[in-house]
Amino acid sequence: MIEEIQDIGPSKVIQLFFPVSNFHAIVVVDNVALGPSIGGVRVSQDVSTEEVKRLARTMTMKNAVAGLPHGGGKAGIIADPGDPKKEHYFRIFSQAIKDLHEYIPGPDMGSNEECMAWIYDEIGRATALPEEIGGLPLDKLGATGFGLSECAEIACPYANIELKGAKVAIQGFGSVGKAAAKFLSEKGAIVVAASDTKGSICNPDGLDVKELLDLKEEKGSVIHYKKGTVKKCEELFMTPCDILIPAATPDVIGKDNVEGVKAKLILQGANIPITKEAEETLHKKGILSVPDFIANAGGVIMAAMEYAKKSEREAFGAISERIKKNTKLILEKTFKENILPRQAAEAIAKERILKAMQYKRVL
Ligand code: NAD
Repeated sequence: MIEEIQDIGPSKVIQLFFPVSNFHAIVVVDNVALGPSIGGVRVSQDVSTEEVKRLARTMTMKNAVAGLPHGGGKAGIIADPGDPKKEHYFRIFSQAIKDLHEYIPGPDMGSNEECMAWIYDEIGRATALPEEIGGLPLDKLGATGFGLSECAEIACPYANIELKGAKVAIQGFGSVGKAAAKFLSEKGAIVVAASDTKGSICNPDGLDVKELLDLKEEKGSVIHYKKGTVKKCEELFMTPCDILIPAATPDVIGKDNVEGVKAKLILQGANIPITKEAEETLHKKGILSVPDFIANAGGVIMAAMEYAKKSEREAFGAISERIKKNTKLILEKTFKENILPRQAAEAIAKERILKAMQYKRVL
């Protein structure tokens, strides 16, 4: 598992305290053997150093598996994402990381392209910028959700599912969840449940994705959708479905609810949404779970393409090609060696990283 690999990082764990502005931030540069690290800035009141370290490692693996010339990093700003002083926090944070060229910030939960524009304005280094300043707005374009739908195309046959007509449940109807719903329904899948912090909405016959997207935009929550049953957030994981997509927070599937999961295939839209123990249980139950750093790599692939000044078309092409290729590669290894998909993916990523580390000066 990711946490057990000690020999590749983290290379820097930086605590930033801003007593005058009264907030605290964390930056972790995990590994830069493949190039400067790319990773999101999470803004949350309870983001911890441990969480940022785990997320930075996930980025190292994700960038390596995706074949990008980037290492893994991550940052956390401990603040309320709705704080009116958010821009001020971002600008101060940017100045503090100005000389940390090994870390290129991107968006994550609680941050968006506007936040990236503030960072870019301060230090000239950020990904997922607004279009007006030359960016490829990955959340608006739905890069990660698109990648999840491409991943589904390849993974479905391994879980004995036909994508056309497959029933999908999505936890978290934010940037990732909404785009996954859109692209999967375009491929003929049926979204039967979706949730956000207010609750979940279910209809075994399918939710109208366009209506749900409009309603989320207008009223702020999926629970206002009329043609379905409103349930508690956590009930979403028990939805009878073919494909389950956790696309919100870490560790949402664990020992307390893993036995109730009814899906045949899980695509990890969020980063580290399933505990290590629960991943093992899923494997024993015959539920295929494609790990985060394979399934949700669409966003970082687009971010890297933007950084390399490529077009939107080239970015979507790269997402499709790389995610399909890597999903196939790790699932072949998984079934051949009867190991967990995460073990297969980590083995491939680690091999690439260790090879690149051999080219570095030994410190
Ligand atoms: P977001 O803030 O746009 O959306 C998150 C959604 O999850 C919101 O709708 C929120 O209401 C919902 N949510 C939060 N807690 C919930 C809970 N307990 N139950 C149900 N819903 C809940 O964030 P996002 O950009 O969509 O990111 C979601 C996850 O995907 C994060 O783990 C992030 O690290 C990961 N991720 C995002 C990207 C990207 O491109 N944005 C790429 C890779 C991974």
